This record gives sequence, C-alpha cells and structure tokens, in this order.
Amino acid sequence: MKKNLKSFFLFFIFLVSCTNKKTVSRADFIIGTICSIKIPASKNADAILEKCFAELKRLDKILSANDENSELSKLNTSAFLNPVKVSPELLELVAFSKMVSKETDGAFELAIGSLVKLWGIGFENERVPHESEIKELLPFCKSENIKIIDEEIFLETANSKIDLGAVGKGYAADRMVEILKSENVESAIINLGGNIYVLGKKFFTNENWKIGLRNPSGAPTDSALVLQVSNTSVVTSGTYERCFEQNGVHYHHILDPKTGYPVKNNLVSVSVICENSTYADALSTAFLVLGYEKSLDFLKKNYSKKISVVFMFKDGTYKTTNEQLIAEDKMMPAH
Ligand code: AMP
Ligand code: MG
Repeated sequence: MKKNLKSFFLFFIFLVSCTNKKTVSRADFIIGTICSIKIPASKNADAILEKCFAELKRLDKILSANDENSELSKLNTSAFLNPVKVSPELLELVAFSKMVSKETDGAFELAIGSLVKLWGIGFENERVPHESEIKELLPFCKSENIKIIDEEIFLETANSKIDLGAVGKGYAADRMVEILKSENVESAIINLGGNIYVLGKKFFTNENWKIGLRNPSGAPTDSALVLQVSNTSVVTSGTYERCFEQNGVHYHHILDPKTGYPVKNNLVSVSVICENSTYADALSTAFLVLGYEKSLDFLKKNYSKKISVVFMFKDGTYKTTNEQLIAEDKMMPAH
C-alpha cells in the first residue's frame, strides 16, 4: 500500500470503536486495508470484537505478502526445493488456492507472486516492466510448481512464489464468521476492505441487508447497484482498485497469468455472491481474468455451488446471473 494512502487511513480510522444503543462496531487498519465489524450490542460485544481483531492480526502475520517477516514471505524465500512445515491456516489456504487455480484453468493463479512483485502495482515501486522480464518469469508462475506433501510446502523453482492477495481477505472474513457464530452472534456485517460478509438478517429485523456495489466510474462511495442479500459474502474485483496510468495506458493489479500483463477485456468489475467468502474472493479474481462468456461456462459446470455473479462492463452496463439480488440499479442492464 502506498505510504501516503496508508497514513491517511490510519489518521482517520486507527482503532475506531463506536457504540450506539443497539450495535457496536470497530474498525482498524489490518491486512493492508480497513477492516470493520458491526454486531448487536451486548455485555460481551466488546470482548467478541476484540477476539475478532486479534485473529485478524494473527492471520496478517501468517498471510501477508508485504511483510517480509510473515510466514508466507518466509516460505517464499526458503521453500525452493526445501520443504517447509507450515501452519494449518497457510496449508489450508494454499491447498484451496491450488484447487481453484486448477479448476479455473489458471485464471486464478496461486503462483503469480513473482509477476505481482515485478509490477509492484499499488506500491511505491510500481512500473511497467520490460517485455523480456515478463517473459522470463511467466513459465515459473504455475501452481503445478507449488507442491504440498503432508504439512509441508515446497516451491519447485526459485521464481515460483505464492501470492494470496486474491483470497486472503475472503479467508479472513470466513474466519470472522466462524468466531461470531461460535459466540452466538446471529447478525453482523463484516467489511474487510470491501470484501463483505453479512451474517443473518439485517439487525433487529427480518429484512435482507442492502449492499451497494461501487460505480466503477464514480467515487468509491458512489454505488451503481444495490443488492439485497443475507447470510452471504459479496466480493468484488475491480480494475479501478490498485492501478496507475503511464503514457495514457491504464495498468491495474489483476494480471492475466497467460500473458503476464494486466487483464484486458470488456469487464471493469466482477462481484461474486456466495456463502464461502474465500471462494467468492478467488472467483471474483478468476472471473475478471476469464471474461464474461468463460465465466458463464464455469458457472454452468459448477451450478451446484450456488454462486451468483454481477458483471460490470466498461460501457457502463451490467449483467447478473441472479436478477432477484438487485434492489436498486442506477446503471443499464446489458442486452
Ligand atoms: P482481488 O482484488 O481479490 O481480485 O485480488 C487481486 C490481487 O491478487 C492482486 O493485487 C495480486 O496480489 C493478486 N493477483 C493478481 N492477479 C492474479 C491472478 N490472476 N490470480 C491470482 N491472484 C492474482
Ligand atoms: Mg479476489
């Protein structure tokens, strides 16, 4: 994260705790983004939120790609041909990501770490690499090069590095839901940098939650569509999120593992709505890479997994696989 942006958030959001009569919420800057959780007020509510945020901090120390002391960073520098025993969380998420890499035919690519670092998009060292640098790394960025044996992971080539940036927030959201359920919290809203999970129905009602999806050409707070959902995760991948412009060309943070360049198609964002937030996170990235048609093929093959999707296109239109989710729309449906 660029330093000035981070300090901006820290200045306003650092450890905000806020209580009204009925709900308690807390926000903090963790896992490289603003994380907030709101639950009904109770005598245990503060302790429950404390538990959630302690867990987010613990997960960050395991999964962060940007902290050189995280378990993942250490794995990436030490596991070349040298199996390393990892924590159950890292093992679980790497194994899951390897499975999604395979089922999306490498559109979601667990081993994309070296290319992500080369571009550095969203960081101070972001730049357009020379074509030869990209070509050199491409063959190594394949999940087949990440091996899992029992509780150990090893990297078959030194340039095959794991990146969990496209699943980490989803994984953390699922973990928050587990904690909240274990504490008998029936209704909550979890927002980990735009990766949303709504637990149960809206506070003290039997109504669905209303979740706004960002207008790609508007301000971050401007929503183009409002979804009505409950007990589910809503995760969006957008080409406007971490990006820069050079010589009039827009470069963004979601890379096409087949070319090594930021994905180029008619999509500007993809939102995936499903109960498993880790999967929603992985698939929103994968669908942005696959494009609209191939994503629909994937959904047809995997219809039993109960996934809904909203695709937003560069021309300002949208398509959804589930009309019933749309509560309000300020943009045109595509034909
Ligand atoms: P998301 O915002 O969830 O779509 O995740 C984007 C992040 O995932 C990027 O910032 C990279 O760290 C990483 N990434 C980029 N391209 C891919 C890809 N094709 N497959 C998996 N991870 C990716
Ligand atoms: Mg993702």
